[in-house]
Amino acid sequence: MAKSTRMTFCSFCGKAQNEVRKMIAGPAGVHICDSCVSVCKTIIDRELSGAAEGGAGNDTAKDQAKGRFNLYKPAEITAKLDEHIISQDYAKRALAVAVYNHYKRLRSEDRLEANAAFEDLDGKFADVQIEKSNILLLGPTGSGKTLLARSLAKLLDVPFAIADATTLTEAGYVGEDVENIVLRLLQSADYDVAKAECGIIYVDEIDKIGRKTDNVSITRDVSGEGVQQALLKILEGTVCNVPPQGGRKHPNQEYIQLDTTNILFICGGAFVGLDKIVQSRSGSKAMGFDTTHNVHQDEVPLSQLLRETQPEDLVHFGMIPEFIGRLPMVAVLDELSRSDLEHILQNTKNSLLKQYGKLFSMEGVNLHFTRDAVAAIADKAIELKTGARALRSIMERIMLDVMYELPQTENVAEVVINRAVVEGRGKPKMKHADTKQAKKSASKTSAKGTSADAA
Ligand code: ADP
Repeated sequence: MAKSTRMTFCSFCGKAQNEVRKMIAGPAGVHICDSCVSVCKTIIDRELSGAAEGGAGNDTAKDQAKGRFNLYKPAEITAKLDEHIISQDYAKRALAVAVYNHYKRLRSEDRLEANAAFEDLDGKFADVQIEKSNILLLGPTGSGKTLLARSLAKLLDVPFAIADATTLTEAGYVGEDVENIVLRLLQSADYDVAKAECGIIYVDEIDKIGRKTDNVSITRDVSGEGVQQALLKILEGTVCNVPPQGGRKHPNQEYIQLDTTNILFICGGAFVGLDKIVQSRSGSKAMGFDTTHNVHQDEVPLSQLLRETQPEDLVHFGMIPEFIGRLPMVAVLDELSRSDLEHILQNTKNSLLKQYGKLFSMEGVNLHFTRDAVAAIADKAIELKTGARALRSIMERIMLDVMYELPQTENVAEVVINRAVVEGRGKPKMKHADTKQAKKSASKTSAKGTSADAA
């Protein structure tokens, strides 16, 4: 019997059966997909609880959600971040304090911990409102800005979304796009509005939406300013009308309302050239540095110079003052050194060497990187000037052939990668197990993961 090839489509959002997880059929050929079901459920829950409690239902849901994140002390936050992120101690501390204060403020707002955390004995602070402190991360490509933001969200167990500021510039309708960022957060919260309202949004490449500075001979980039204005609204806190299906428009579309007041925004960018602005400002100020120090100013690491960044420098760079005003916490990341890159390869909880080690151990093979192989990988990454970002693709290139051959090669106990392999001058060495005993002992070592020569 011929099989029917007719595709079904969701009658609500129009998605095809193969684009969704589940399609439910109704009478007379109508269908609804799983994501439209959850959107409908959110809308119904909100409306019914609002009606039942005279509008207070939403607040109750919000209060419950505010308790639904892990609140760690700053030192606990940095300790957890240390497991995944190498170096960047300054940024980790700054972020830990900012994040701790942000979520503490949320907790105390809903009084979940008001008594335990803060006793305002004489009522001195009764009318004091603690303002939200969004964060600006300054640091080169591949230094861990996105990783920091993502790790924080994971640690706190809050929804997380990433947006690329440059894609906002390209779109004609800026406002719509900005709302799509909020939609991504809502999706990451499984359409739980109250949960999304306590989430974290990371906006990458924020420096790319600065208007061009005077010394660039291009006409003023007004669209960059427009995007800053649009972002400013959600950074400050506004109620967004989020189309549940993103850009797709369909008649009688329901919008989900989401308040961005308590969303923590972390914006990141490399801000190439900002150091020159800081240098010329601080250089022009007679701050009492001795002349020898000034002579050696070129040798001051970039990140150290950037730590002196003042709001006026960012305005000079092209950011609008109101926007900068909404990012009061500035944390600077260091450029990763060769030894940082070696550490990243070997020592983080999910380091690439450990991951490959695990894959090989599943084949009963020990994977060994010589010390100079690790150094050569770090050297290659430094040449590429994309920080730790390049490590994965370098590793994939090195490992491709051996990972292809290994499953069909008999009796291998160990694979050794040295500098020549990394530099494309040699092939990985496969050590064969001569006896059953040798193979047994090899798989014992491989259970520990990869081995690399001790530094
Ligand atoms: P950025 O946002 O600064 O451009 P990312 O956070 O996206 O950089 O980093 C790219 C990848 O490089 C990350 O997924 C991570 O694997 C690795 N990485 C970057 N910085 C670090 C770091 N400091 N410690 C550990 N891994 C890092």
